Amino acid sequence: SVFPAERTVILTGAASPRGIGRTTAFHLAERGWHIGIVDVDAAAAERTAAEVAEAHGVRAVGVGANVADREQAVAAIDALEASLPQIVALVNFAGVSSPIPYLEVTPEEWHRVESINLDGVHWVTQRVARTLVANGVGRLVGISSVSAQRGGGTFSKTPYSAAKAGVIGLMRSVARELGPLGITANVISPGPIDTDIMGGTLTEERKTAMAADGVLPRIGTPTDIAAAVAYLISEDAGFVTGQTLNVDGGLYMH
Ligand code: NAD
Repeated sequence: SVFPAERTVILTGAASPRGIGRTTAFHLAERGWHIGIVDVDAAAAERTAAEVAEAHGVRAVGVGANVADREQAVAAIDALEASLPQIVALVNFAGVSSPIPYLEVTPEEWHRVESINLDGVHWVTQRVARTLVANGVGRLVGISSVSAQRGGGTFSKTPYSAAKAGVIGLMRSVARELGPLGITANVISPGPIDTDIMGGTLTEERKTAMAADGVLPRIGTPTDIAAAVAYLISEDAGFVTGQTLNVDGGLYMH
């Protein structure tokens, strides 16, 4: 076995109550992973970790950090590494939406979205990758979006699509450089998932309209994504790298 018996997955953005990251934390803990959570909401990160540990008897620690701030991102991973078993995997869920029409995008909005959704993925990934390379084994996962592949069309618009397309390029390049060192890097690209990221605009009517756009007659659940994560970070997925796995009900086929 390449993986150590006791292994930790780091999840950024896993603290929001109806989010994909939180569901994934429970899903992975149930499968024996110890859990490290990094979220801008420190109190919610700590609370979520305590709930996961309680529910599944694993070790779980939550720390507060804004992933867009490199020093905070690095300090958060340092803290988790010091208090949890060997880090084997990272999943970058932390992200924000941006439904502003292109001609109204201000420099501040552009910077806010790129700094969290792309720079933040890079800061955390680079720090975690140093540990994975030192151990000679690891799994990196970025979370893109069907918005990157189809040019929006669900909720968020240009700054979001640009950053999420960047996540695909980042992870492919990391896959190429770090593959020889024992690391895989992949991306999951979700279609519309029933969470709170669309700021209360996800009405039943809207869900039906978005589902009608795809092949499967529903929008996605956080568990749809958690199951894909569980596969990509598993030891069994050791020959899969540089890929984008679309978990979107067939919304984007290419
Ligand atoms: P969510 O809003 O429920 O969760 C996002 C989490 O990121 C929250 O816990 C939030 O506190 C955290 N976060 C925000 N800014 C941060 C920062 N600067 N530093 C650290 N943490 C920060 O959203 P979700 O729907 O669970 O989305 C999770 C990921 O999946 C996001 O990257 C999102 O873009 C992506 N995604 C979601 C959908 C969807 O339809 N819900 C579709 C495609 C992609």
